[in-house]
Amino acid sequence: MLIVKGKQKGKTFTILAGVHGAEYAPIIATQELVKELKPNELIGTIIILPITNIGSFYNKTPYINPLDNKNINRIFPGKKGGTVSEKIVDFISSEVIPISDIFLDVHSGDASEDLLPFVCYYDNKRFPRQTEITKELCEYSGFENVVSYPYTIKDDDPAKYAFKQACQAGKIAFSFESGKLGYLQPEAVKRIKRGFYRIFKKLEMYNFNVLSGVMKFQRLDRQVYIKAPVQGIFYSKFKAGSQVIGGETIGYITDEFGVILEKIVSPKKGVILYMKGTPPTKYRSTLFCISSYKL
Ligand SMILES: [Zn+2]
Repeated sequence: MLIVKGKQKGKTFTILAGVHGAEYAPIIATQELVKELKPNELIGTIIILPITNIGSFYNKTPYINPLDNKNINRIFPGKKGGTVSEKIVDFISSEVIPISDIFLDVHSGDASEDLLPFVCYYDNKRFPRQTEITKELCEYSGFENVVSYPYTIKDDDPAKYAFKQACQAGKIAFSFESGKLGYLQPEAVKRIKRGFYRIFKKLEMYNFNVLSGVMKFQRLDRQVYIKAPVQGIFYSKFKAGSQVIGGETIGYITDEFGVILEKIVSPKKGVILYMKGTPPTKYRSTLFCISSYKL
């Protein structure tokens, strides 16, 4: 964990990268941020967890930490005295989130995921002021797509996800998604860094002089998830960002001998936010996330 203390006191901004260790753009963007930040121009404190899931990063395993086969972004708030992932998560929940004013978890499409870049937040009605500030920051971030998720959990429900845990605690919490498919795209790193600097500026923590006003973006909501109805080999001519209509065949799954087992049909009109980008498909794994432009 790295703590960058500014010359002047102010807000505490936490950035998590590498919760999924095969998502490289967030990790490299925070590496570059650390090199570039000038503490004497910073107002407040920036806490950085540069590679939250070290086990996943060095073993190149998507989603999970191979040391205990757990997905760090599904087990919040974690467990004291649990497995290594549960301990990491417990540390974030009990030590890092409480001292953070703003909490940003940065992801990509994982090694097998194609993804349209987006920034996302929860529409948490329990903390309307925080939700309003979060929405404003997301819309200022420079991301082309701003996604809102419904927030339906109770105060004592396990939040499961890192930034949902922070949201449940009443923090300003959101997530960037940029990059995909297990390799490093320079434009994905650039987008994340632009997001960091624009948000620091909006919060009056750090000045970055090449910024203009609010950039063009569109709002998305009402996500639906299509799960694989069967194990097999997945095919699709669509990509993240493709527009689809209800009833349209958007992919199919074959067995290992080329026999089509199931066709995948879109349940509604929308845009593919992310999708499986590689052939191997397990039963019940997510094939598509289809979102709608906000009315
Ligand atoms: Zn991720």
